Amino acid sequence: MYEGVVQDLIDELGRLPGVGPKSAQRIAFHVLQADPVDVRRLAHALLEVKDKVRFCAVCGNVAEAERCRVCLDPRRDLAVICVVEEPKDVVAIERTREFRGRYHVLGGAISPIEGVGPDDLRIRELLARLADGSVTELILATDPNLEGEATATYLARLCKPMGLKVTRLASGLPVGGDLEYADEVTLGRAFEGRRLLDV
Ligand SMILES: [Zn+2]
Repeated sequence: MYEGVVQDLIDELGRLPGVGPKSAQRIAFHVLQADPVDVRRLAHALLEVKDKVRFCAVCGNVAEAERCRVCLDPRRDLAVICVVEEPKDVVAIERTREFRGRYHVLGGAISPIEGVGPDDLRIRELLARLADGSVTELILATDPNLEGEATATYLARLCKPMGLKVTRLASGLPVGGDLEYADEVTLGRAFEGRRLLDV
């Protein structure tokens, strides 16, 4: 539709999640008209995040070192692990200030439709963390939708025989939604009211 580099930019932007062809075009023309200093800063931020940020060797959260900020914090309770789908869920839960344990980021949820099975998630790494018996409670904070529920049930069946207390966030979270979209108060309450999972 457009010449060379402009179309390349639109194509690249269009590959980003949530950016449709119209938005891609709008962003591309915004970039064309923007101050070169601003564009350079954006390009720099994109490159820096790929160079400097990696995933925590323990929990899978984003980290600027081998371990993330939460795993490095000696004040965090080692006996409780909160299992989430994505690093952005860690941010959402941290905002509530309700949780003082550590996290485990799965990297998604079980979804037969999208071809995501248990082996595609960081479940083996979770079991390895539970092996020494120092963790006593596992909070399953996967999203309150079909895939999140299926993943929570799968994990509960897997982990309960290990003698752990396995809990799920209380209802009240918008069903079918994403954890990250829940407001702090609702998410905080869901944490306080978490219930034991019967599987
Ligand atoms: Zn970590």
